[in-house]
Amino acid sequence: MSRRKTRPRTTAAAAPAVTATSPCPCGLDAPYGACCGRFHAGTGGTAPTAELLMRSRYSAFVVRDEAYLLRTWAPATRPDGVDFDPGIRWTGLDIVETTEGTAFHQRGTVTFTARYVHAGEPGEQSERSRFARHEGAWVYVDGDVAQ
Ligand SMILES: [Zn+2]
Repeated sequence: MSRRKTRPRTTAAAAPAVTATSPCPCGLDAPYGACCGRFHAGTGGTAPTAELLMRSRYSAFVVRDEAYLLRTWAPATRPDGVDFDPGIRWTGLDIVETTEGTAFHQRGTVTFTARYVHAGEPGEQSERSRFARHEGAWVYVDGDVAQ
């Protein structure tokens, strides 16, 4: 079990059921277990590109994997915890643009739009996220949210 949080938290509704054979929430044409799930479980090493890290972090929001989000967050910007809004259901991810972020780079950006439904109303969030390497692995640094 996870350690007890120091902050009061709202009671989260159960995360959507995503199994190893479900379509991966990130939108790639692969089952979750062979796509983002292997990174979440730690069985697939670490995401080799900033884009794959971004996808796996989106999927981690879908399945509410706080530990994964925290360990793929740059230490300098990492929060104490992640609050999942139980009223939000993430429904899709579109990668709009990437710069650098490959096996040959130390930094990269990923611009994306994530879609969700909140209180029955569809919405979307667009962000240009910055990634860097920490101890060799890609981590999320910060991002600029587009309105
Ligand atoms: Zn995936």
